[in-house]
Amino acid sequence: MTPGRPVPPALAKPIAPAADNTSVETKTETGLLAAAYGAVSGDSGLVPLTLARRTPGADDVEIAIEFCGLCHSDVHATRGEWGGQAYPLVPGHEIVGTVSRVGADVTEFTVGDRVGVGCMVDSCRECDSCLDGLEQYCEKGMTGTYGANDRRNGGTTQGGYSSSIVVDRRYVLRVPESLDPAAAAPLLCAGVTTFSPLRHFGVEEGDVVGVVGLGGLGHMAVKLAKAMGAQVVVFTTSEAKVAAALELGADEVVLSRDEAAMAAANRTVDLIIDTVAAPHDLNPYFRTLRVDGALFQLGLPSEAMPPVSPGALIRRRIAYAGSLIGGIAETQEMLDFCAEHGVVADIEMVGAGQLNEAYDRMVAGDVKYRFVLDTGTLQAPAEEADA
Ligand code: NAP
Ligand code: ZN
Ligand code: ZN
Repeated sequence: MTPGRPVPPALAKPIAPAADNTSVETKTETGLLAAAYGAVSGDSGLVPLTLARRTPGADDVEIAIEFCGLCHSDVHATRGEWGGQAYPLVPGHEIVGTVSRVGADVTEFTVGDRVGVGCMVDSCRECDSCLDGLEQYCEKGMTGTYGANDRRNGGTTQGGYSSSIVVDRRYVLRVPESLDPAAAAPLLCAGVTTFSPLRHFGVEEGDVVGVVGLGGLGHMAVKLAKAMGAQVVVFTTSEAKVAAALELGADEVVLSRDEAAMAAANRTVDLIIDTVAAPHDLNPYFRTLRVDGALFQLGLPSEAMPPVSPGALIRRRIAYAGSLIGGIAETQEMLDFCAEHGVVADIEMVGAGQLNEAYDRMVAGDVKYRFVLDTGTLQAPAEEADA
């Protein structure tokens, strides 16, 4: 939707109320009304909503959103799987669009620039983590792009399944023009979340990187590790993905439910990027690592994981780590790296009316490899507009 364009009547009224009658409306004077899709409860699915975006302040960038990737975190959050979820909730943190307005103090972006927003829109800007460019580990807590308490503007942040968003310039990324904007959207979460641990480990030519789970994050890990010169082994539960993994550039594919194949991979891998969205046993993966290997867990299942065997770690000085997205400077570095190496996500575009089906398909592992919402479809269905 073009910024400033009137919102369809059905969307311009307050959204379908949540159980506690809260509205998604936040303070607005001359901010845009945005067409959006979000959840009003854990079992509502995604429904059309209206958001009132704030008037851009001096440091703000207003963005007309073109595309937004569908991350598995959006599913966890909208379905309340992580607990304590406030509704209404408009998800989406893989945002690409163009700048439609800037505040008086914004010099680094101008109207028409192609920009992106990832998983955070603010942090304290003062703590050691923030000063080190690790805003995702802000000691006071980063402000997530959706469902977070907006410490500077009030209200709750609402994400990118919407026609526009207003974000402080410090958390806006420049999307290189050479990247297809729709296929670049997933870089803002899936891309940086896998880029960051690959860089932190110092992956270089000849290293062997294992990728567990070939979904949105996993397929980006394959592409980025290959672009860094690594050999890549994909561990998948899906026989149907073996050929596709090789097509993506994997050098080897191991079916993780095949015990003999897992045993044959003993001591072959330097670094594992684990992206699985459900509880699973990590111990068989530790056995595929060499001495001084590391396993970074990126998936955040809602249920407990089977226990890690200390012996599996101790005997090879293996590091078991977690990693949360990436800092702002690192996200820009990743976007520039992707432009240099021609890396984007493999996507399937969906319209607003297909979001619920897309979520079910994502949970079933039926996507190659990232759904992306075309926000141009965020119109009220005709029958609802008439209602
Ligand atoms: P996704 O596209 O759904 O991919 C997850 C993959 O995990 C699936 O394609 C599947 O791969 C594997 N998998 C799923 N269920 C499984 C099961 N029961 N047993 C074994 N493998 C299973 O999800 P995503 O968007 O990549 O996100 C993955 C996880 O990362 C989610 O939990 C998400 O919340 C989290 N996340 C974390 C961060 C962070 O900063 N750490 C950022 C974004 C997302 P195969 O079919 O190949 O086995
Ligand atoms: Zn995400
Ligand atoms: Zn901080």
